Amino acid sequence: MRIIKSAKELSSAIATEKYLNNRTIGFVPTMGALHQGHLALVQKSISENELTVVSIFVNPTQFNDPEDFKKYPNTIDEDLALLLEIGCDMVFLPSVGEMYPQQPLIKMNFGYLDTILEAEFRPGHFSGVAQIVSKLLHLAMPHKAYFGQKDLQQCVIIQYLIQEFGFPVEMIICDTCRDEFGLALSSRNKRLSEAGLLEARKLNQLLAQVILEVNKNKSLQVLEEIQSQFAQANPLIEIEYLRLVDAQTLKPVAHYQNQQKLALCIAAFVEGVRLIDNLIFECNQA
Ligand code: AMP
Repeated sequence: MRIIKSAKELSSAIATEKYLNNRTIGFVPTMGALHQGHLALVQKSISENELTVVSIFVNPTQFNDPEDFKKYPNTIDEDLALLLEIGCDMVFLPSVGEMYPQQPLIKMNFGYLDTILEAEFRPGHFSGVAQIVSKLLHLAMPHKAYFGQKDLQQCVIIQYLIQEFGFPVEMIICDTCRDEFGLALSSRNKRLSEAGLLEARKLNQLLAQVILEVNKNKSLQVLEEIQSQFAQANPLIEIEYLRLVDAQTLKPVAHYQNQQKLALCIAAFVEGVRLIDNLIFECNQA
Protein backbone atom coordinates (compact mmCIF):
# COMPACT_ATOMS: atom_id res chain seq x y z
CA MET A 1 0.00 0.00 0.00
CA ARG A 2 1.51 3.27 -1.12
CA ILE A 3 1.29 6.20 1.29
CA ILE A 4 1.43 9.61 -0.35
CA LYS A 5 1.67 12.93 1.46
CA SER A 6 2.20 15.37 -1.38
CA ALA A 7 -0.60 16.59 -3.67
CA LYS A 8 1.69 16.67 -6.69
CA GLU A 9 2.86 13.13 -6.07
CA LEU A 10 -0.75 11.94 -5.79
CA SER A 11 -1.85 13.48 -9.08
CA SER A 12 1.18 12.17 -10.93
CA ALA A 13 0.78 8.65 -9.44
CA ILE A 14 -2.90 8.63 -10.41
CA ALA A 15 -2.18 9.98 -13.91
CA THR A 16 0.27 7.13 -14.47
CA GLU A 17 -2.22 4.52 -13.27
CA LYS A 18 -5.18 6.02 -15.12
CA TYR A 19 -3.70 7.04 -18.47
CA LEU A 20 -0.59 4.87 -18.83
CA ASN A 21 -1.77 1.68 -17.15
CA ASN A 22 -5.46 2.19 -18.06
CA ARG A 23 -6.64 1.27 -14.58
CA THR A 24 -10.00 2.35 -13.19
CA ILE A 25 -9.73 4.48 -10.06
CA GLY A 26 -12.05 4.40 -7.03
CA PHE A 27 -11.75 7.08 -4.37
CA VAL A 28 -12.97 7.25 -0.77
CA PRO A 29 -12.46 10.56 1.06
CA THR A 30 -12.40 10.26 4.87
CA MET A 31 -11.32 12.12 7.97
CA GLY A 32 -9.80 9.00 9.51
CA ALA A 33 -10.60 7.29 12.83
CA LEU A 34 -11.83 4.57 10.52
CA HIS A 35 -14.60 2.14 11.42
CA GLN A 36 -16.56 -0.53 9.59
CA GLY A 37 -18.69 2.15 7.86
CA HIS A 38 -15.62 3.61 6.17
CA LEU A 39 -14.23 0.17 5.42
CA ALA A 40 -17.47 -0.87 3.70
CA LEU A 41 -17.01 2.06 1.30
CA VAL A 42 -13.39 1.07 0.69
CA GLN A 43 -14.34 -2.57 0.12
CA LYS A 44 -17.02 -1.54 -2.39
CA SER A 45 -14.46 0.57 -4.21
CA ILE A 46 -11.97 -2.31 -4.25
CA SER A 47 -14.64 -4.60 -5.72
CA GLU A 48 -15.58 -2.10 -8.46
CA ASN A 49 -12.24 -0.57 -9.46
CA GLU A 50 -8.72 -1.65 -10.30
CA LEU A 51 -7.10 0.86 -7.96
CA THR A 52 -8.54 2.29 -4.75
CA VAL A 53 -7.32 5.50 -3.14
CA VAL A 54 -8.41 6.54 0.35
CA SER A 55 -7.70 10.02 1.66
CA ILE A 56 -7.38 10.71 5.38
CA PHE A 57 -7.55 14.41 6.14
CA VAL A 58 -9.32 16.18 8.99
CA ASN A 59 -10.42 19.22 7.06
CA PRO A 60 -10.30 22.36 9.25
CA THR A 61 -12.51 24.48 6.95
CA GLN A 62 -15.58 22.31 7.53
CA PHE A 63 -15.54 22.66 11.33
CA ASN A 64 -17.59 25.58 12.53
CA ASP A 65 -16.69 24.66 16.13
CA PRO A 66 -12.90 24.84 16.80
CA GLU A 67 -13.29 22.58 19.88
CA ASP A 68 -14.91 19.87 17.73
CA PHE A 69 -11.93 20.10 15.35
CA LYS A 70 -9.42 19.83 18.21
CA LYS A 71 -11.19 16.84 19.72
CA TYR A 72 -11.65 14.97 16.45
CA PRO A 73 -10.21 11.46 17.05
CA ASN A 74 -6.92 10.55 15.40
CA THR A 75 -6.05 6.85 15.11
CA ILE A 76 -3.75 6.98 12.10
CA ASP A 77 -1.66 3.86 12.88
CA GLU A 78 -4.77 1.70 13.32
CA ASP A 79 -6.32 3.29 10.20
CA LEU A 80 -3.34 2.37 8.03
CA ALA A 81 -3.27 -1.19 9.43
CA LEU A 82 -6.99 -1.62 8.62
CA LEU A 83 -6.58 -0.28 5.09
CA LEU A 84 -3.58 -2.52 4.44
CA GLU A 85 -5.50 -5.53 5.71
CA ILE A 86 -8.44 -5.04 3.33
CA GLY A 87 -6.24 -4.42 0.30
CA CYS A 88 -6.40 -0.65 -0.25
CA ASP A 89 -3.83 0.40 -2.88
CA MET A 90 -3.06 4.01 -2.00
CA VAL A 91 -3.57 6.32 0.96
CA PHE A 92 -3.37 10.08 0.61
CA LEU A 93 -2.33 11.65 3.91
CA PRO A 94 -1.73 15.35 3.36
CA SER A 95 -0.93 18.00 5.97
CA VAL A 96 -3.11 21.10 6.36
CA GLY A 97 -0.38 23.16 4.67
CA GLU A 98 -0.36 20.76 1.72
CA MET A 99 -4.12 21.13 1.13
CA TYR A 100 -4.26 24.84 1.98
CA PRO A 101 -0.99 26.46 0.92
CA GLN A 102 -2.78 29.81 1.16
CA GLN A 103 -5.69 31.08 3.25
CA PRO A 104 -8.75 29.98 1.22
CA LEU A 105 -10.83 32.90 -0.06
CA ILE A 106 -13.54 31.14 -2.02
CA LYS A 107 -16.77 30.35 -0.21
CA MET A 108 -19.46 28.19 -1.73
CA ASN A 109 -23.16 28.55 -1.18
CA PHE A 110 -25.75 25.93 -1.98
CA GLY A 111 -28.92 27.99 -1.99
CA TYR A 112 -31.79 26.49 0.01
CA LEU A 113 -29.61 23.47 0.88
CA ASP A 114 -27.41 25.85 2.84
CA THR A 115 -30.25 26.95 5.08
CA ILE A 116 -31.71 23.64 6.25
CA LEU A 117 -30.81 20.69 8.51
CA GLU A 118 -27.04 20.55 9.11
CA ALA A 119 -26.43 23.91 7.43
CA GLU A 120 -28.83 25.64 9.79
CA PHE A 121 -26.73 24.59 12.79
CA ARG A 122 -23.26 24.43 11.21
CA PRO A 123 -22.90 27.62 9.14
CA GLY A 124 -20.10 27.37 6.60
CA HIS A 125 -19.78 23.61 7.04
CA PHE A 126 -20.75 22.65 3.50
CA SER A 127 -18.58 25.34 1.95
CA GLY A 128 -15.63 23.65 3.67
CA VAL A 129 -16.81 20.20 2.60
CA ALA A 130 -17.27 21.27 -1.03
CA GLN A 131 -13.88 23.01 -1.03
CA ILE A 132 -11.99 19.93 0.13
CA VAL A 133 -13.99 17.45 -1.96
CA SER A 134 -13.36 19.58 -5.08
CA LYS A 135 -9.64 19.65 -4.41
CA LEU A 136 -9.48 15.94 -3.69
CA LEU A 137 -11.45 15.06 -6.84
CA HIS A 138 -9.07 17.18 -8.92
CA LEU A 139 -6.07 15.37 -7.46
CA ALA A 140 -7.41 11.80 -7.38
CA MET A 141 -9.27 12.03 -10.74
CA PRO A 142 -11.36 8.97 -9.86
CA HIS A 143 -13.85 7.19 -12.10
CA LYS A 144 -16.02 6.56 -9.03
CA ALA A 145 -16.13 8.26 -5.62
CA TYR A 146 -17.81 6.68 -2.60
CA PHE A 147 -19.84 8.44 0.10
CA GLY A 148 -22.08 7.29 2.96
CA GLN A 149 -25.82 7.93 3.24
CA LYS A 150 -25.24 8.68 6.92
CA ASP A 151 -24.23 12.16 5.74
CA LEU A 152 -27.31 12.54 3.56
CA GLN A 153 -27.17 16.30 3.07
CA GLN A 154 -23.48 16.04 2.20
CA CYS A 155 -24.40 13.47 -0.47
CA VAL A 156 -27.04 15.75 -2.00
CA ILE A 157 -24.69 18.74 -1.99
CA ILE A 158 -21.77 16.81 -3.49
CA GLN A 159 -24.08 15.47 -6.18
CA TYR A 160 -24.90 19.10 -7.10
CA LEU A 161 -21.22 20.01 -6.99
CA ILE A 162 -20.34 17.18 -9.36
CA GLN A 163 -23.16 18.06 -11.77
CA GLU A 164 -22.71 21.82 -11.76
CA PHE A 165 -18.91 21.80 -12.08
CA GLY A 166 -18.93 18.80 -14.42
CA PHE A 167 -16.53 16.62 -12.48
CA PRO A 168 -16.05 13.49 -14.59
CA VAL A 169 -16.83 11.12 -11.74
CA GLU A 170 -19.67 8.81 -10.80
CA MET A 171 -20.87 9.27 -7.25
CA ILE A 172 -21.73 6.09 -5.36
CA ILE A 173 -23.82 6.41 -2.20
CA CYS A 174 -23.51 3.52 0.26
CA ASP A 175 -25.91 2.44 3.02
CA THR A 176 -25.27 3.46 6.60
CA CYS A 177 -23.40 0.81 8.62
CA ARG A 178 -24.74 0.34 12.13
CA ASP A 179 -23.72 -1.55 15.23
CA GLU A 180 -25.78 -4.52 16.38
CA PHE A 181 -28.12 -2.16 18.25
CA GLY A 182 -28.73 0.08 15.26
CA LEU A 183 -26.42 2.94 16.23
CA ALA A 184 -24.92 4.50 13.10
CA LEU A 185 -21.16 3.98 13.19
CA SER A 186 -19.28 7.25 13.49
CA SER A 187 -15.75 8.32 14.35
CA ARG A 188 -17.34 10.51 17.01
CA ASN A 189 -18.72 7.43 18.82
CA LYS A 190 -15.12 6.90 20.00
CA ARG A 191 -15.58 9.91 22.29
CA LEU A 192 -18.57 8.33 24.10
CA SER A 193 -18.37 6.46 27.42
CA GLU A 194 -20.11 3.07 27.79
CA ALA A 195 -23.10 4.89 29.30
CA GLY A 196 -23.05 7.42 26.45
CA LEU A 197 -23.14 4.63 23.89
CA LEU A 198 -26.26 3.23 25.54
CA GLU A 199 -27.88 6.66 25.27
CA ALA A 200 -26.78 7.12 21.66
CA ARG A 201 -28.37 3.81 20.70
CA LYS A 202 -31.78 5.25 21.60
CA LEU A 203 -31.59 7.64 18.64
CA ASN A 204 -32.13 4.93 16.08
CA GLN A 205 -35.07 3.57 18.09
CA LEU A 206 -36.56 7.05 18.08
CA LEU A 207 -36.27 7.27 14.29
CA ALA A 208 -37.91 3.86 13.88
CA GLN A 209 -40.75 4.82 16.23
CA VAL A 210 -41.44 8.09 14.40
CA ILE A 211 -41.54 6.30 11.04
CA LEU A 212 -44.01 3.78 12.39
CA GLU A 213 -46.29 6.55 13.61
CA VAL A 214 -45.88 8.68 10.48
CA ASN A 215 -47.08 5.71 8.49
CA LYS A 216 -50.04 5.23 10.82
CA ASN A 217 -51.12 8.87 11.14
CA LYS A 218 -51.62 11.41 8.44
CA SER A 219 -50.37 14.31 10.50
CA LEU A 220 -46.90 15.65 11.22
CA GLN A 221 -48.06 16.53 14.70
CA VAL A 222 -47.14 13.03 15.78
CA LEU A 223 -43.47 13.87 15.21
CA GLU A 224 -43.56 16.76 17.69
CA GLU A 225 -45.42 14.68 20.24
CA ILE A 226 -42.96 11.79 20.10
CA GLN A 227 -40.02 14.20 20.22
CA SER A 228 -41.29 15.91 23.33
CA GLN A 229 -42.07 12.57 25.07
CA PHE A 230 -38.59 11.35 24.14
CA ALA A 231 -36.96 14.53 25.48
CA GLN A 232 -38.74 14.14 28.79
CA ALA A 233 -37.82 10.47 29.14
CA ASN A 234 -34.18 11.00 28.04
CA PRO A 235 -32.71 14.08 29.70
CA LEU A 236 -29.15 13.03 28.79
CA ILE A 237 -29.90 13.39 25.08
CA GLU A 238 -30.25 16.85 23.58
CA ILE A 239 -31.98 16.77 20.21
CA GLU A 240 -30.86 19.61 17.96
CA TYR A 241 -33.33 18.77 15.22
CA LEU A 242 -35.61 15.97 14.13
CA ARG A 243 -37.05 16.63 10.68
CA LEU A 244 -39.10 14.82 8.11
CA VAL A 245 -38.01 15.86 4.63
CA ASP A 246 -38.33 14.78 1.02
CA ALA A 247 -35.55 12.24 0.48
CA GLN A 248 -34.43 13.75 -2.84
CA THR A 249 -34.66 17.49 -2.28
CA LEU A 250 -34.37 17.45 1.55
CA LYS A 251 -37.09 20.12 1.64
CA PRO A 252 -39.37 19.89 4.68
CA VAL A 253 -42.64 18.17 3.95
CA ALA A 254 -45.80 19.74 5.31
CA HIS A 255 -48.08 17.14 3.74
CA TYR A 256 -46.83 13.84 2.53
CA GLN A 257 -48.30 11.45 0.06
CA ASN A 258 -48.44 7.72 -0.04
CA GLN A 259 -45.33 6.22 -1.66
CA GLN A 260 -43.40 9.46 -1.40
CA LYS A 261 -39.76 8.81 -0.50
CA LEU A 262 -39.08 10.57 2.78
CA ALA A 263 -36.04 10.96 5.00
CA LEU A 264 -36.20 11.34 8.74
CA CYS A 265 -33.08 13.21 9.85
CA ILE A 266 -31.76 13.79 13.33
CA ALA A 267 -28.88 15.58 15.04
CA ALA A 268 -28.41 15.19 18.78
CA PHE A 269 -25.83 15.70 21.48
CA VAL A 270 -24.85 12.88 23.83
CA GLU A 271 -22.16 13.69 26.41
CA GLY A 272 -21.40 16.82 24.39
CA VAL A 273 -20.72 14.75 21.25
CA ARG A 274 -22.77 15.73 18.21
CA LEU A 275 -24.23 12.74 16.37
CA ILE A 276 -26.30 12.62 13.19
CA ASP A 277 -28.36 9.92 11.57
CA ASN A 278 -31.20 9.47 9.09
CA LEU A 279 -33.51 6.82 7.73
CA ILE A 280 -35.01 6.89 4.24
CA PHE A 281 -38.38 5.24 3.84
CA GLU A 282 -41.37 5.15 1.57
CA CYS A 283 -44.49 6.62 3.07
CA ASN A 284 -46.90 3.74 3.26
CA GLN A 285 -50.10 4.66 4.99
CA ALA A 286 -52.73 1.98 5.40
P1 AMP B 1 -15.93 10.94 7.60
O1 AMP B 1 -14.60 10.33 7.90
O2 AMP B 1 -16.85 10.98 8.78
O3 AMP B 1 -15.82 12.24 6.85
O4 AMP B 1 -16.64 9.93 6.60
C1 AMP B 1 -16.07 9.57 5.38
C2 AMP B 1 -17.10 8.90 4.54
O5 AMP B 1 -17.58 7.75 5.21
C3 AMP B 1 -18.33 9.80 4.30
O6 AMP B 1 -18.79 9.63 2.96
C4 AMP B 1 -19.33 9.28 5.29
O7 AMP B 1 -20.67 9.49 4.91
C5 AMP B 1 -18.99 7.79 5.29
N1 AMP B 1 -19.46 7.18 6.53
C6 AMP B 1 -19.24 7.60 7.79
N2 AMP B 1 -19.90 6.81 8.68
C7 AMP B 1 -20.55 5.87 7.94
C8 AMP B 1 -21.41 4.78 8.26
N3 AMP B 1 -21.74 4.47 9.51
N4 AMP B 1 -21.87 4.02 7.24
C9 AMP B 1 -21.57 4.31 5.95
N5 AMP B 1 -20.76 5.33 5.59
C10 AMP B 1 -20.27 6.10 6.57
